[in-house]
Amino acid sequence: MIRDIKRFSQKEYDLLVIGGGINGCAIANLASGAGMKVALVDKGDFASGTSTKTTKLIHGGIRYLENFEFDLVYEALHERFIQLKTVPYLVKPLGFVVPVYKKDARPLWMMRIGVWLYDFLSGAYVIEKHRYLTVRQITGLVPGIKQEDLVGGVMYYDAQMDDARVCLENALMADHLGAHLANYVEVTNFLKRNGKVTGVRARDVLTEHTFEIKAKKVVCAIGPWTNHFLRLDNPRARARVRTTKGVHLVYRGQMAPQAILLSSQQDKRIFFIIPWKGNSLIGTTDTDYFDSPNQVSVKEEDVDYLLREAQRIFPDKPLSKDNIITTFAGLRPLVHDEGAPAKVSRKHVIEETYSGLIFVMGGKYTTYRKIAEDCLQFLRRNRIPLALSQFHLYGSGAINAPSQEIAQHCSLDEATVDILKNTYGIRYQQILKLVEKNPQWKNCLCSCSPAIEAQVVYAIESEMAQTKEDIIWRRLSIGYNDCPTKQCRERIQQILAEFKST
Ligand SMILES: Cc1cc2nc3c(=O)[nH]c(=O)nc-3n(C[C@H](O)[C@H](O)[C@H](O)COP(=O)(O)OP(=O)(O)OC[C@H]3O[C@@H](n4cnc5c(N)ncnc54)[C@H](O)[C@@H]3O)c2cc1C
Repeated sequence: MIRDIKRFSQKEYDLLVIGGGINGCAIANLASGAGMKVALVDKGDFASGTSTKTTKLIHGGIRYLENFEFDLVYEALHERFIQLKTVPYLVKPLGFVVPVYKKDARPLWMMRIGVWLYDFLSGAYVIEKHRYLTVRQITGLVPGIKQEDLVGGVMYYDAQMDDARVCLENALMADHLGAHLANYVEVTNFLKRNGKVTGVRARDVLTEHTFEIKAKKVVCAIGPWTNHFLRLDNPRARARVRTTKGVHLVYRGQMAPQAILLSSQQDKRIFFIIPWKGNSLIGTTDTDYFDSPNQVSVKEEDVDYLLREAQRIFPDKPLSKDNIITTFAGLRPLVHDEGAPAKVSRKHVIEETYSGLIFVMGGKYTTYRKIAEDCLQFLRRNRIPLALSQFHLYGSGAINAPSQEIAQHCSLDEATVDILKNTYGIRYQQILKLVEKNPQWKNCLCSCSPAIEAQVVYAIESEMAQTKEDIIWRRLSIGYNDCPTKQCRERIQQILAEFKST
C-alpha cells in the first residue's frame, strides 16, 4: 500500500470515503470489490480514531438484551460467526464468566435467562453452549475472586479481535482491489457545484501541501467528527451524533484466563475484565462527552472508577495505579437519542444531506460488514453500478503449514511464527520473504514480545506506517505489552529513521 498523494488530483473518483476507521475502510474495500474507482483519506492513521479504542470484542452484545434490541443482537451474532470463520487469525473465541452477587443489579435468574436467550439468538452460530456455574466452579475459574455474597453465575462465549489489524486488513484489501488510500490527509472543506458536493479540499498533514479530490459521491465515515462535518456542509444542520466517552486501562498481569463480566456497583452498568496480550483489559466507562473529539483523554476519575470496580471483586489483591501499563479513551459515535448513555441504541443509520453528502452514523465494530453493505446499497439507489461481492480481508485464507516446520525451515522461534500467522494470516509469508532477503531482520525487537524487525520493515514498506505510534499501536499492537526497557520503541524509531533517510 503506497502513499502517493499526487494521484488523488489526477482523476474523478466514483466514490471518496472520508475516514479510515473500520467503517470507512470496509466501505472502501467493498466498493472497490464491486468495481468502483475509490479514494479514501484519513487525517490520522488508519484506525487511529474510535476503531482502536474498543473493548476488542466481536460480540452480539449480551447487554443489549436488556434494551430488547433482539434484532441488533441477532445481526451481530451472525456477523460474529462469519468473522470467526473468515478471519480466524484476528478474531478468536473467548469464554466469559459472569459471577453474580447478592445485591447485584442483575440477579442470577436474569443472567441465566440472558445467556439462554443469547445462545437461542445465536442459533446454529453458537460458539459453545452457555453453562450455569456454582460458587465453587467460579472460584476455580477465577482464583482470588471475592466469595462473600457470591450466589453463583454463568458462562457464555463471544469473540475477541485485534481491532487495529481488522481495520488495516480492510484498508489493505481495498488497496489490493485498486483503491487509492492515504493516511495523514485531512479534509478541510467541500467542493460544490450548484449546491451539490463534487469533491473535497484536502491537506497533507505531513507536508502541509493542499490539493483537491473530485468524486461523484462522497461518504463521510468519520465517527465522532460527524457533527462537525454536518455543520461544515450546512451551518444550520442539527447534531445527529451523540458522543459518549469510553475509557479502558490495561493492567499488568492476567486476572483470569477467561473474560469476566461484572455489574458495576456505582452505576449498575456492565463492564469487563478481559485477558489481553498477557495482561488485563479493564473497561469501560460510558459518559456523555461534549468537547472536540480531537481532545478526548483519560481523566483520573475514569481510572479510579475502573480500578475501584475491579478491586471490589479481587479484595485480597491490592490494585495499584503503578501497575497500569496504559490507558486509552474513545468516543462512541451514537445516533442521537435521549436517555442514559448506556441505553442509547448501537444501531447504524445512513443519511444523505441536501448537498449529496452521505453520512454513516452509529453502529458497532462487530457489524462493520453490514454497515458497509448498507452504505453500498444506499449508493446503488443513487444509480451507481454495483455488484455486491463477498467480503475478503487481505490475510484471509487457509494456513496449512505447522508453525514448528516453518520455524525450523526459517530458523525462527515458533512463538514468532505464531505471532506472524496471528497478525498477517496467509500474508505471513511476506514477512518470511523479507527475512530471506535480510537475515538480520530476524532479530527480535525487544524482550517484551516475539515480534521481529522484519515486521517493522513490512509496516513501513507495505502497510503505510508513518510514525513510531503507527507501528507500536496499529501495526504490531505491542503498546499493550508490559515492556520495562522500552527497547522496542527505540529500535522502531531507528528503523524508521533508516528508511525515511533512503
Ligand atoms: C470505548 C468503546 C468501546 C467499544 N467497544 C466495542 C466492541 O468491543 N465491539 C464493538 O463491536 N464495538 C465497539 N465499540 C464501537 C466501535 O468502536 C465503533 O462503532 C467503531 O469503531 C466506529 O468506527 P468508525 O469508522 O465509524 O469511526 P472512527 O474509527 O472514529 O473513524 C473515523 C475516522 O475519521 C477520521 N477523520 C475525522 N475527521 C477527518 C477529516 N477532517 N479528514 C479526514 N479524516 C477524518 C478520524 O481520524 C478517524 O480515523 C466501542 C466504542 C467505544 C468508544
